[in-house]
Amino acid sequence: MTCPPLKITFLGTGTSSGVPMIACNCGVCTSKDPKDNRLRSSILVESAATSIVVDTTPDFRFQMLRENITKLDAVLFTHPHKDHIAGLDDIRAFNYFQEMPMDVYANDITQSALKREFPYIFAEHRYPGIPDINVKDIPAETFMIGDIPVTPILVWHLKMPVLGFRFGSFTYITDANMIEESEKKKIIGSEVMVLNALRHKKHISHFTLSEAVALVQALQVPCGYFTHISHQLGLHGEVNKALPVGIELAFDRQVILT
Ligand SMILES: [Zn+2]
Ligand SMILES: [Zn+2]
Ligand SMILES: [Zn+2]
Repeated sequence: MTCPPLKITFLGTGTSSGVPMIACNCGVCTSKDPKDNRLRSSILVESAATSIVVDTTPDFRFQMLRENITKLDAVLFTHPHKDHIAGLDDIRAFNYFQEMPMDVYANDITQSALKREFPYIFAEHRYPGIPDINVKDIPAETFMIGDIPVTPILVWHLKMPVLGFRFGSFTYITDANMIEESEKKKIIGSEVMVLNALRHKKHISHFTLSEAVALVQALQVPCGYFTHISHQLGLHGEVNKALPVGIELAFDRQVILT
């Protein structure tokens, strides 16, 4: 399936606590460099006709306001952790102005979490003005959202299945620490790949910086960007400078054109 030209915007590039972290006085959390300010991880994927957000973070409202997003066609969820779903309630602004339900694509465990964490959205007797969503299963193979082809990629976050997504030559994977060989094949041929890189020290459910570098190189993707970053990774300017050619730390509001 051919993919139209896309504009990708990093809405947030921080781990679950965001950077700065509440009550932290470390050098990263007190840095004056705007690139050391990271909202929770999410991207906006836009063609001329279609706009998709991947995850609705606790910062979703501010992310939509900051980028002046006035139209949204769908939400794609990666997994049910709170830092990826907490902002769903604010989808109602789009319901109000677009006068229609929002298409929300989620795997089984994320759908269960949405029902558990936002029970009022699914209530029989609906309070006026609450979010109106049209929950959709995510097919195993490539499917279309508007004019954008979406290929789901199954990755592992310790024992939790998480979905990465490939849109044409652009692949977005967050909250993973293992990808099976069969799923890696779906990434090969991407021009750009986003991967989570939490920190330097080993973590049970996230790639470290060196694991993320090794994976981008092993898959021979020419451009790698890292997201879901902790304050423990260090200053953006210093860490970024030391990365191999073609690999960089993403930062909030960064735009990639494909
Ligand atoms: Zn996360
Ligand atoms: Zn800190
Ligand atoms: Zn997670």
